[in-house]
Amino acid sequence: MEKPTILVVEDEPAIADTIQYALESEGFRCLRLEVGAGVVEVLDRQPVALVVLDIGLPDVSGVEVCRRIRQRHDVPVIFLTARGGEVDRVVGLELGADDYVIKPFSPRELAARAKAVLRRARSAGSASQSPPSGTAFKLDEERRQITYFGRPLELSRYEYKLLAVLLKRPGRVYSRDELLELVWDAPEASLDRTVDAHVKNLRAKLRDIRPDADPIATHRGMGYSLKEGL
Ligand code: CA
Repeated sequence: MEKPTILVVEDEPAIADTIQYALESEGFRCLRLEVGAGVVEVLDRQPVALVVLDIGLPDVSGVEVCRRIRQRHDVPVIFLTARGGEVDRVVGLELGADDYVIKPFSPRELAARAKAVLRRARSAGSASQSPPSGTAFKLDEERRQITYFGRPLELSRYEYKLLAVLLKRPGRVYSRDELLELVWDAPEASLDRTVDAHVKNLRAKLRDIRPDADPIATHRGMGYSLKEGL
């Protein structure tokens, strides 16, 4: 099988080198560009499985590049962004990116994200062949209620918010830091083990309903995700 090609658009050569090394060790082929101009032309010319796109590019912002890509291609995009950086992360995702990674990031984390995004893209492509799924969880944001196999969960405020974040992007691995920022009101006052404690409680509540299922995956040294295909 031919190696999937990932286009890396990053103006800092040292960062691009690290990314290329990490992706190539995972069996991908890498193309590199240092500016945003020309990205769409590369996509027009050859099949690309995924674009890793720095937001802070010297010529045109990654957000604008993503917009241009979206006019012609539905290739998945992962944004690279500085912490507290150029774009609000949620906005980044709304603009049509599939995921984002905050600098500084570990190459291993980026490679894991890339694989998850590609897995999702593949399963979305073959969705018509598989039976309907997604009945395990139902999220009702207006009522702030989550049901699990038809049973409403009794969740604390943070347990609810934590599970709601995971539910929205199955397969997406969230680091403890990200979860603290997305879920907690005062993340700087909270600790990584706050996240762990809440995940532990959540798991206990889910186990009460279905002892044989463990829908939250732990990624050692990285964080948590909701398992895909539930
Ligand atoms: Ca940059």
